[in-house]
Amino acid sequence: MNDAETLRQRLHDAGVHTLLVQFADVHGTPKGKLVPLAHLRTVLEAGAGFAGPSIWGTGLARTGPRSEYLARGDAATLQPLPWQPGVARIVGDGFVDGRPFDACPRQVLRRALARLAERGWRLEVGIEPEFFLLKRLPGGGYAPLDDHDRLPKPSYDLKSLARAQPLLHDLRAWLEACGLDVTQVDHEDAHGQYELNFAHADALVSADRLMLFKLAAHAAAEKHGAVFSLMPKPFADQPGSGMHFHVSLWAGNRCLFDAEEPAADLSPLGRHFVAGVLAHAPALTALAAPTVNSYKRLAVYDSITGTTWAPVWIAHGPNNRTALVRTLAGRFEWRLPDAAANPYLALAGLVAAGLEGIDRALDPGAPCHDDLYAGGAVAHPRLPGDLAQALDALQADDVVAAALGATLAAEFVRLKRDEWRAWAQQIGPWELARYAEAF
Ligand code: GLU
Ligand code: MG
Repeated sequence: MNDAETLRQRLHDAGVHTLLVQFADVHGTPKGKLVPLAHLRTVLEAGAGFAGPSIWGTGLARTGPRSEYLARGDAATLQPLPWQPGVARIVGDGFVDGRPFDACPRQVLRRALARLAERGWRLEVGIEPEFFLLKRLPGGGYAPLDDHDRLPKPSYDLKSLARAQPLLHDLRAWLEACGLDVTQVDHEDAHGQYELNFAHADALVSADRLMLFKLAAHAAAEKHGAVFSLMPKPFADQPGSGMHFHVSLWAGNRCLFDAEEPAADLSPLGRHFVAGVLAHAPALTALAAPTVNSYKRLAVYDSITGTTWAPVWIAHGPNNRTALVRTLAGRFEWRLPDAAANPYLALAGLVAAGLEGIDRALDPGAPCHDDLYAGGAVAHPRLPGDLAQALDALQADDVVAAALGATLAAEFVRLKRDEWRAWAQQIGPWELARYAEAF
């Protein structure tokens, strides 16, 4: 028996009858199709077929050999889904015309990680999604799922956490059954906002797990009559949802970011990496904060809780949660990404920026110990203030744009400029209230 047949038999014996072949589009939304298990070999060798132009961000033609997008299953990702008995998820890599598809986000991250592997390095990443549990209101709009979630400082609220427990417990149990090591679940700093963390892993594995987390969280919300939302900033007066990345670089079992001097968080190599991340922060913002709504999170104004905890200035500091990069012993926390970021693209950009920092031996400057929200921010440059500015920065940054590849960089900018224009053309209640009778 060959490998595919052995695997098929093993899955069959475990009660699996269907494969959910999943890939990520440019927005980081999981997409895919169901394929009967009998066709596992085709999924592994050729891939499940999709109409290329029907997928956001491929830029593929409507006719000819380059119209077909094949998601070729990565057997290492096969995982029965506890919330869909009999169904096993397999993550696909994009192929077009028999070759790896340059604009597939997972292929983009593979390319970035291959650059590290050439040097004998690998990236470990812990991804920390914050999210809202909401309900749809009859007249339109959304409110926190829990009507009683009303504290003026809702962080770590155990009463609302207990009310959300049936949903959160299903989510945790399902992820654990999928092999994720869930390390904590808490109420975050906005009404209806929670965070679930799972252990760090190789960058590609972590990005795949984040996609699995999205599938599981939507399923748990559906089961419990809730809406699961990764919108970066649903409520103007409250903090938004970040998706922080904890990052370290390794050669075998050796952490290359470990400092030799006890006073420093990071080794010289780690400091160069961080310097690259700071130097390319404006372009990275387009990938890490990719929606028009993202910039309402990356802004300074009062929230009901007294802060937003989201970065606004390009700075790094030891255990400084008000900075873009918070350094810790042997790793750093990249606080820029929000919950809407495509993890494959954000990580690919991060690697390109970090490598540039290493190769050019960039210096991140003095660490910032200030509370940047308390007015210590004058010396630091600001992040782009909106999506249009971030896209300008991405287009001007050859290093980050090259990490995406020419096809995806062009598609990303085109789609996101359209998104910006569509939003800019809206006339909403705030404008009417402010101007309709003002003059
Ligand atoms: N919600 C904050 C953000 O948008 C982060 C809060 C925290 O540090 O956990 O980044
Ligand atoms: Mg948090």
